[in-house]
Amino acid sequence: MSTATLPDDPKLRERFGDLKPALAPQAAVIEANRCLNCFDAPCTGACPTHIDVPGFIKRIASGNLRGSAMRILDANILGSSCSRVCPVDVLCEGACVMHRQNHKPIQIALLQRHAMDAFHHSGEPVPTAPARSRKLRVGCIGGGPASLACAAELCRQGAQATIIERRPLPGGLNTYGVAEYKLRAADSLREVEMIRRMGVEFRFGETIDSSAALDALEAEFDYFFLGLGLGAMQQLGIPGEDSQGVINALELIAAYKVGHIREMRGTVVVVGAGNTAIDAANAARRLGAETVYLLYRRGENDMSAFDFEYEHAKQEGVQFLWRRQPLAIRSNEHGRLLLDTVQMQQVDKKLLPIPDSQFTIDCDFVVPAIGQSPLAQLIQDLRGVEVRGGRIVANIATGETANPRYFAGGDCVNGGREVVDAVAGGKRAALAILKTAEATHA
Ligand code: SF4
Repeated sequence: MSTATLPDDPKLRERFGDLKPALAPQAAVIEANRCLNCFDAPCTGACPTHIDVPGFIKRIASGNLRGSAMRILDANILGSSCSRVCPVDVLCEGACVMHRQNHKPIQIALLQRHAMDAFHHSGEPVPTAPARSRKLRVGCIGGGPASLACAAELCRQGAQATIIERRPLPGGLNTYGVAEYKLRAADSLREVEMIRRMGVEFRFGETIDSSAALDALEAEFDYFFLGLGLGAMQQLGIPGEDSQGVINALELIAAYKVGHIREMRGTVVVVGAGNTAIDAANAARRLGAETVYLLYRRGENDMSAFDFEYEHAKQEGVQFLWRRQPLAIRSNEHGRLLLDTVQMQQVDKKLLPIPDSQFTIDCDFVVPAIGQSPLAQLIQDLRGVEVRGGRIVANIATGETANPRYFAGGDCVNGGREVVDAVAGGKRAALAILKTAEATHA
């Protein structure tokens, strides 16, 4: 039985067409032949999963697309989604030696996508060790990129890995949280299906909310990998936040990706200036909102979104309101939202409201996107696993926590970074689990 699929939605596809078109076969070969196959390959060093970039590009140049995909998957089992969502300008492509020669960097992401798309279309399986050749059972809690990478590596090496996910679909942010024009939910699920075919088991709709539930799992598995991701977005902490028409950025992105929201009209105000805020603002524009403001209490130079995300939002028609702080959300008699704001200024490194600068924005939706708070509730039930500042404390190199049966990785440890960081963390933890199990049973 397959994991899950989503029905194709032509309207969604039309509105959220690919940000970057795929390379045609001929163009891919030409681009691959531009690569210098650098001996020290700084592009590989800049990739958190250390994909052998010249190795996979060389295989594209020689027409060996399957070999190229295998090179990618050896290092990064989510090579397909990473080729679409990685901020390559600051990773592999940013490190390409072509920059030093004033040439355009090699289009590594598009080449990687070319090889991975060909592999997925072929329907071929990923080679794994004989199933269950190790007597090792690992429960991976959470179905996002870190857990998928951990479980896939364990299965590849003959262990049994089971992903336990509270939601109905696997993939975590790849399925529910990445803007559709970067990665379609259907493509995320296709990648998850490949991992299921490697032998990873999936259980959906399973919430671990009590000591008893935890006890039952501990009796079933030898080790656990915690890939819990991030919890709900932080509240704005202002009156009226529970009004109808207030929807947080992650809920908005998840809702349109699975078809629960198909259009937005009128004026939308997104509060925040990170990459998720940009994704939500762009989504609102593409869903049909006539006016989209992105409101941030600091200035343009303080925003945490990548520069290219900012430029993209400007192209989508998002308007930016800098140094403006929300104060309250009210509803008028016509059911519209009134967002009270005040202009801010920086005085001696402090952000202070400017007197008499209140301004009310009449809008249809308010979308808070002000960072994410790590899910801590479950962790409080996990005996001996230390949580500090809302994050699980784990060794970055191994994923080990204070409890020798529990390992962790991805956003719940690093506080929210890139998909490729989660993949790297999950894989490192899998290798550490295998090593620990071998040492324990030696
Ligand atoms: Fe090719 Fe650029 Fe990597 Fe060198 S740095 S191997 S040219 S992609």
